[in-house]
Formats: sequence, structure tokens, C-alpha cells
Amino acid sequence: MTHSPRRAEEILQALRLKRPEDINLEAIAWLQGAKVDYREMDGCEACIHGRADVGRAIIAVNDAHGNLRRQRFSLAHELGHWEWHRGEHLFCAKEDIGGSKGRERGMSREKGANRFASELLMPGFMLKSALSDFRKFDMRTVRSLSDAFSVSKTAMAYRLVDLDFEPSLLASYSRGGLNWFKRSKSVGERWFLRRTLDPQSNAYDILHKGARDDISLSLMDADTWFDTEGADRHELCEQSFRVGDDEIMTLLVLKSEYMMAR
Ligand SMILES: [Zn+2]
Repeated sequence: MTHSPRRAEEILQALRLKRPEDINLEAIAWLQGAKVDYREMDGCEACIHGRADVGRAIIAVNDAHGNLRRQRFSLAHELGHWEWHRGEHLFCAKEDIGGSKGRERGMSREKGANRFASELLMPGFMLKSALSDFRKFDMRTVRSLSDAFSVSKTAMAYRLVDLDFEPSLLASYSRGGLNWFKRSKSVGERWFLRRTLDPQSNAYDILHKGARDDISLSLMDADTWFDTEGADRHELCEQSFRVGDDEIMTLLVLKSEYMMAR
């Protein structure tokens, strides 16, 4: 049986799905010949055992933590493996699925499966029409959209930055410093984030002093976030929120034309 891998949006469009609530992953899996089993798993978040010759697979998803949005992303990730790495037996750890490992540069198998998951759960054509209801790109918009699409706030913020609806960055920091970041295409590549949080940033107060999450964007000097020469002459907006005991996520929205890619 020959199989031609398809992009996630091609699958959704072939099924004529138009709204986020129509994205029923179990039904999509079943149509692709994959059966889904939720169970408690030790040491991995999801796995797939597939047979390319008969076009059938079994996907198992860890339900031990009870986080439904994470399970949804895990299943979408395994469907990405089934589409693009058909026939391989894969065990995917927490760091592989939407985590920092999957966000490294280069096109690893895990990164490919994460990209597929992101496009399946948050297709560009649905996001574009959903975004027309919002006036600005901030975490309030991200939260509303993450609820509408049943994904985590981080996954939604990452996707919106990636799609470059506004010149922006999403960054993850721990006490040890920068974990990873995503920069939208319209932001100049010379803008490098500081390796550790500046005490002037809201993120620093939230991570180190237990301050509450930002409820809106706040205007900052750009050199609070970048050590690139000239940063002190520009401003940007920051909104930060805690995602774990030792992890904070920051959305930066750029204001200055000077900071855009040329
Ligand atoms: Zn994987």
C-alpha cells in the first residue's frame, strides 16, 4: 500500500473542516487507520506502533496527568509520525512533544511531528478568521484562542508568533537563564535575547519574586530584553506568565520599525 504524506492542513481541507470544534482527533485518526488508546504510561507521553504495509497503527497516549490539552497535542504529534514516518515504532518523551527538544533548530523527526501537530490543531486558515475578532495581539487574545482551539497557551502563543501576525517573540526562561525562544520572521535576526532575565523586566519579578502574571502588555525599553547595540533607543511590549515552578513564558511585541527584518 503506497502512502504519500500530507500536510495537516491538506487533511483538514480534504475533510472540509472549517471550525476548531470540528477537529475531532480520534475521528481523524480512525480515518487514517490509527486506533487510539489512552492509558497510564511510564517514561513516555505517547507512542505509535504502525504497519505501513497494511496501513494500520495503534497510538497510545499517556493520560496519567489528566491534562486533556496536553493529551490532544500528544495525539496530534503521533498522527504527524503516522503521516510522515509511517511504519516506525516510536516512543515519544515529554521533551519530544511540544517541548524544548522539539523546538531546536534543524528538522528532526520530533520537530516535524510537532509542526504537524501545531498545524493540525491550529490551522492557519482557521486562525486567520478567528483573529479578526481581536483588536490586538496580547495574552488575552492568546488565552481566548487557546480555549477555542483546545490547546495550551504556550502552544497557541508559539503558533501565532510563528505565523507572524505581528512582529513578536515568545521566550521561555528559568532561573538558570534562557531555555528557548521563537522569533517571528518580520523581526530582524540581529536581535538576540539576553541570556538571563534583566531585573527591570516583569518576567524577573514573576520568576524570582513571586509577582503575579501580567494582565496586559506593558511598554519597556528594548534593552531590558536585548543586548544588541542600539536597543536602548527603542521600545517594545512585554507580557509574562508563569508556566511552572521554574519556568516563565514571555510574549514580546515589537513597536519599532527599526527592529524589523530588512
Ligand atoms: Zn515523537
